[in-house]
Amino acid sequence: MALLVGSSGPIVPHLPAAGASGVVRECERMGANRHLGGRTVGTTDAPRTGLRLMAVHAHPDDESSKGAATTAMYAAQGVEVLVVTCTGGERGSILNPRYPVRPSSPEEMADIRREEMAAAAAALGVRHHWLGFVDSGLPEGDPLPPLPEGCFALVPLEEAAGPLVQLVREFRPHVMTTYDPTGGYPHPDHVMCHKVAAEAFAAAGQADRYRGRGEPWAPHKLYYNHDFSLNRISTVHQAVVDAGLESPFGDWVASRAMREIPERQVTTRVRCADHFADRDAALVAHATQIDPEGFFFAVPRDLEIDVWPVEEYELAESRVPTTFPEDDLFAGIHPEDDR
Ligand SMILES: [Zn+2]
Repeated sequence: MALLVGSSGPIVPHLPAAGASGVVRECERMGANRHLGGRTVGTTDAPRTGLRLMAVHAHPDDESSKGAATTAMYAAQGVEVLVVTCTGGERGSILNPRYPVRPSSPEEMADIRREEMAAAAAALGVRHHWLGFVDSGLPEGDPLPPLPEGCFALVPLEEAAGPLVQLVREFRPHVMTTYDPTGGYPHPDHVMCHKVAAEAFAAAGQADRYRGRGEPWAPHKLYYNHDFSLNRISTVHQAVVDAGLESPFGDWVASRAMREIPERQVTTRVRCADHFADRDAALVAHATQIDPEGFFFAVPRDLEIDVWPVEEYELAESRVPTTFPEDDLFAGIHPEDDR
């Protein structure tokens, strides 16, 4: 972890208000902050206005399975939350055996996934923006086939990161989230998603980089999502077994433990269980991808809240001082410093 404690990125004064210019204005504002004035939960009761969070994901549905309740919680508290999806998920297949129809073309699939994404964003109460790259698909076989021409993972880094740098400079997030360098799992779009988010975090504040893509803005913190740690899955699995229920996670725990994938560091645990229902609603909105009777919903919610009421993160980069462990992605950030 490269932690630049005590240093401060360039803060450009007198910029227009966030969202005042093109790219963000075009975002699909799906019920943004719809929770405002409703439940107040989380680490503070004070409204968190003036703070901005950008969650960068590879495909539509990733925002609902990784860090989803965190985004819903912050949106409910008054934080501006923008979910960014790098690709359209065009190469996804129907993963829900209960989905009633089969799309007749990739275009129809893309249309369905756009509608699903809009419904998920509304369920989370966040804004959403498509970066517009084409899904690389998950290569399968031995040897693996080459990636399809023109797909996201094959776009040169500067070309792929340019639109995100522009979006960062317009939305001016204090905090960005994305995946760790492995992608969390070896989908080429997830690895590429990490690369472009890390590049945007590093370069958006530098005036001599990505010229013509807006005024510099250096986000303060970059986090990696860690929602599928062996620790979480095995803890939830054990609780389900102890409750005398059938766990869908036994094979997962065994194969994961066997592969000896090193566990990433967790620096930050956000208590967001009051928004698990929003996460679940967002997952269900991705009806082509998520089986409402599948493993995402196999754990009784009160049991999950009992044993794992948090979402976990690794602070990968910080331009503000902070202390560990954290319970808030905005720890150490004061929006009044922006002015
Ligand atoms: Zn994905």
